[in-house]
Amino acid sequence: MKKPPLHLRIMLGMVLGVLCGIAFTQFEGGVQLVSDWIKPFGTIFINALKLIAMPLILGSLIKGVSDLKDISKLSLMGGRTIGIYIITTVLAVSIGLLMVNTFRPGTSIAEETREELVATYSSDAAEKQAVAKKQKEAGPLQALVDLVPDNIFKATTENGNMLQVIFFALFFGIGLILIPPEKAKPVKDFFDAFNEVILKLIDLIMMAAPYGVFALLAALVVESPSLDLFRALGMYAITLLIGLALMIGVYSLLLRLYVKIKPSKFLQGIAPAQLLAFSTSSSAATLPVTMERVEEHLGVDEEVASFVLPIGATINMDGTSLYQAVAAVFIAQAFGMDLSLGAQLGIILTATLASIGAAAVPGAGMVMLVIVLGQAGIPEAGLALIFAIDRPLDMCRTVVNVTGDSAVSMMVAKSVGKLKKNPKEKKWDDHYKKND
Ligand code: ASP
Repeated sequence: MKKPPLHLRIMLGMVLGVLCGIAFTQFEGGVQLVSDWIKPFGTIFINALKLIAMPLILGSLIKGVSDLKDISKLSLMGGRTIGIYIITTVLAVSIGLLMVNTFRPGTSIAEETREELVATYSSDAAEKQAVAKKQKEAGPLQALVDLVPDNIFKATTENGNMLQVIFFALFFGIGLILIPPEKAKPVKDFFDAFNEVILKLIDLIMMAAPYGVFALLAALVVESPSLDLFRALGMYAITLLIGLALMIGVYSLLLRLYVKIKPSKFLQGIAPAQLLAFSTSSSAATLPVTMERVEEHLGVDEEVASFVLPIGATINMDGTSLYQAVAAVFIAQAFGMDLSLGAQLGIILTATLASIGAAAVPGAGMVMLVIVLGQAGIPEAGLALIFAIDRPLDMCRTVVNVTGDSAVSMMVAKSVGKLKKNPKEKKWDDHYKKND
């Protein structure tokens, strides 16, 4: 019998995972069973993805940059990438503000629900506040200082230091462009082959994706708090989800107008990356798959994808910035505060910066939300209000983060003439069948 395509199998894994999680919560000891015997497979899957993220960035970025041949091309692409990233992020925050001011979800939270939520989650919220405080205490140029590693081996051992690895790879790539081609050749050939190996590893890991997401979702379901809390926060969640859906609409429109690709084709192309973003809640863990999808299925040249996507995974988080705008105003509404236009414009700025600063890992957007709240004068304890429902919403905003990076990579590729019309449709699914 013919196997269904990969994204369908991943989806099936997700559905079965949720059902399995629900089933196991029905009897005593079920939760423990899932934690002991199912969850570890999800962890192994995420670890495997993270394991290749650093080598992938190093290999593909060095190769991508050194293929550019001259540095002016690099600065052209860099300028466009950053420019489009900032524009889409500001758009996302604005959509978030528009939604939350239209639906006003915070006003529907009853006084006693608010108090209950604050009481239940205040210690968790305090933890996030402490992390955010540390980040805030750093000087204004700390982000710049953090960009330059003092030891590349140390930088690559810390998955949180993706920007440092990107910096090193760019720097190394520039060096390769500047030395005589015959000297550069063996190094380039090495990274070329290195890259191929990593891409093959992604193929292999993706074979396990349906099982990996099954385990992740089953574990998530058994660990999630009670349904009542979700219900109280329903309006907030719906407002945010509508905003996120609109943002995907914005990408589709931009791509339709500028790249002339049908939204359905784009979405189909990156579906496995989106599903993985949803299951892992981490743009960084999803990065290898995002790269493979845009290169193999959407025709973005490797040179562009290897430059735009790793940078995007760390600094371009449209879903996160949209979420921060909605969450900040929601909390203000729940506490009966009316935010002035000035305060809301301030949110556009701080949410843009906070999403750039957020790490591409689960829950990072919430840590940075503390900074947005502080800047706008909204009580930080309000974090406790949204805690219960943050994980599922994190999963959704990560989908938008990854979709945004992919869309921008297509736009940048188009703008520098590096978008192939007919990407050779091979790889995963065919490949998967062969390997089965
Ligand atoms: N989980 C998100 C990501 O990895 C960041 C966030 O928490 O918003 O893209």
